[in-house]
Amino acid sequence: MKVYISVDAEGVAGISDWEQCIAGGDDYPLGRDLMLGEVNAAIDGAVEAGAEQILVNDSHSLMRNLPPGELGGHASYLSGRFKPLYMMEGLDASYDVALFLGYHAAMPTPGVLSHTYNPRAIANVVLNGTVTGEAGINALVAQHHGVPVAVITGDQYVGPEAAPFCPGIDAIEVKKSVSRYAAEHLHPHIAQQRIREGVFRALSEPGAGPPVLHLPATLEVQLVSPDMAEQATWLRGVERVTSTTVRFEDDDPLRLYRTFMTLVFLTRSLVETR
Ligand SMILES: [Zn+2]
Repeated sequence: MKVYISVDAEGVAGISDWEQCIAGGDDYPLGRDLMLGEVNAAIDGAVEAGAEQILVNDSHSLMRNLPPGELGGHASYLSGRFKPLYMMEGLDASYDVALFLGYHAAMPTPGVLSHTYNPRAIANVVLNGTVTGEAGINALVAQHHGVPVAVITGDQYVGPEAAPFCPGIDAIEVKKSVSRYAAEHLHPHIAQQRIREGVFRALSEPGAGPPVLHLPATLEVQLVSPDMAEQATWLRGVERVTSTTVRFEDDDPLRLYRTFMTLVFLTRSLVETR
């Protein structure tokens, strides 16, 4: 069994502030430790369920948050800050299953550290008429390769947000968000135990199927400013819907994801740093 892991940081138990998950932040070393603990718990569960090959794609910030030699299961590590498929780089049809670890809620959701790819540019994303966070957007790549997304970990919001896009996904709740900057966390050992057991269960008795979004799929993206929406229309096929919202559709889920990624990279140039 080949297992693909996309790991973010904001949904990890114990993390509730950017200082814990951005390099240079006061508490960044703590954040990376907590992140590593959850990745290794998932790896342990996967290995117990029969995983032979594991790829960990670091999907957070500069995307080199983990010490490669401390990853369990002799997992390979995909790291670095320019990856064309970003949070889903490295996935292909040879993988049996994908896991989304440490995921956070969508920008309009009151989950801790909620955002959708770029909190300073993207106010909301709607996929085929349903508000989506990063899991639903990333499911487009899983659909292209026909790989089920079996598990998502994070707060109480990430499971219900992913469910419409990832059939049969199991959500493992490791913290309860109280506000965008506060959460009640399980003790890291308990969070890790739940992840190990949950991943083992999900991989031993597979209940998840590959995403099957209706095609052509449509993304509606609300940007923070009208300038960003105007800029987004420079991309072929992207139409302005309101002053801040654009829409685009594609019958190829991978191409739709790539257009979204281009929009994310493009609108960075207009982010106000004040
Ligand atoms: Zn992140």
